Amino acid sequence: MPTDPVEFSVVTLFPEMFCALTDWGVTGRAHRQALWSLSLHNPRDYAADKHGSVDDRPYGGGPGMVMTAPVLDAVVAAAKGAVSGKPTVVALTPQGERFSAAVVESLLQADGVVLVAGRYEGMDERFIERSVDLELSLGDYVVSGGELPAMLVMDAMIRQIPGALGHEGSAREDSFVHGLLDWPHYTRPEVYEGSAVPEVLLSGDHGAIAGWRRAQALRRTMARRPDLVTFEALAPEDVELLKQWTLDE
Ligand code: SAM
Repeated sequence: MPTDPVEFSVVTLFPEMFCALTDWGVTGRAHRQALWSLSLHNPRDYAADKHGSVDDRPYGGGPGMVMTAPVLDAVVAAAKGAVSGKPTVVALTPQGERFSAAVVESLLQADGVVLVAGRYEGMDERFIERSVDLELSLGDYVVSGGELPAMLVMDAMIRQIPGALGHEGSAREDSFVHGLLDWPHYTRPEVYEGSAVPEVLLSGDHGAIAGWRRAQALRRTMARRPDLVTFEALAPEDVELLKQWTLDE
């Protein structure tokens, strides 16, 4: 049964950038299949003066400009009106909650998402306090604008929409979806520069392959991201898998 499309409304000074999602790859195909929709809203169209000003100097002095609250409130009202239901308003900012698979999951339950991409030094705090439901950060670094962060949020959500990926299992097996990193992947040739594909993957034994993959995902996660899983938190079956595949390799 076809599901309703996931509705995105984006506030951006650079709407053209979003063709990266509508025109290319997995997200482009899903857009053509109407699995998600996009409406774009440019703050310049809501400026009060004839110059299309959307920013002003910061109170207290200092470098850079700040996007003004009246313009942001006006454009976000239009962006909210473009999706059905009561959407969640998300501002992209380095000061927000860290984006994660858990956030993807919860945003997919929302009644549409309005993403607000900042520029310059950022957005007037009173707009954020009054009109934003969630502030999201893509990581502990600063990029020049919220467009790329907004696109990353959208891409991560779109690939989880049923039907968006050619192979239905792919999104379910992605890193983080089950709290673990992905296992290593191999394709032909069977031996590359003297390095062979692990034998179990050629065995045709689906149970053994699933066990090996789970053990690799656990090992990799414990080694690279011990914050995600600890030995003490492992299920007894996982401990057995780790023992088996450590001894067999
Ligand atoms: N003055 C801000 C600060 O230090 O937190 C940085 C402003 S940045 C140059 C301009 C815009 O880029 C921000 O308003 C935000 O929308 C976006 N941005 C930059 N880094 C980001 C990040 N790590 N996560 C999400 N958005 C980010």
